[in-house]
Amino acid sequence: MKERSVSKIRIFNAFTGQQESVEIINKPTAQWKRELDSEVYEVTEEKATERPFTGEYNDHKGRGVFVCARCGTHLFSSEDKFNSGTGWPSFICPIRSGNVAYKDDKSWNMERTEVLCPRCGAHLGHVFNDGPPPTGKRYCINSASLKFVEQPIEKAP
Ligand code: FE
Repeated sequence: MKERSVSKIRIFNAFTGQQESVEIINKPTAQWKRELDSEVYEVTEEKATERPFTGEYNDHKGRGVFVCARCGTHLFSSEDKFNSGTGWPSFICPIRSGNVAYKDDKSWNMERTEVLCPRCGAHLGHVFNDGPPPTGKRYCINSASLKFVEQPIEKAP
């Protein structure tokens, strides 16, 4: 019998402070469409952008971790969130460098860098070079691609 090939990646678990080996999730678009709320589907799979100032987490305050709405990968920390005034949740960096993936995006006659979930491929948003110190980056992320998980414990180093 042929062995099923399983691709794994290592991602950081902010609650345990450990790097973990997890299986890459590769589902067909039709399956995501069946499984997800339409707004989450349209943003994460069809790369739609939610209207500014409408998303659940634009104004969100609270201490915790923003995880992938599709697969739960830990993406951003509330400690790295800032008010960019754009109407979308904005972060100066991901929770760990390997916990997001990047892709050149030349759609809409713009040259941008798309930010994706490295485990399930969900479209999250884009990253720009006009963020505040110390990184100078602005991760402009759709609320619909995120879920907030409160973290009462100390952030792992
Ligand atoms: Fe994901």
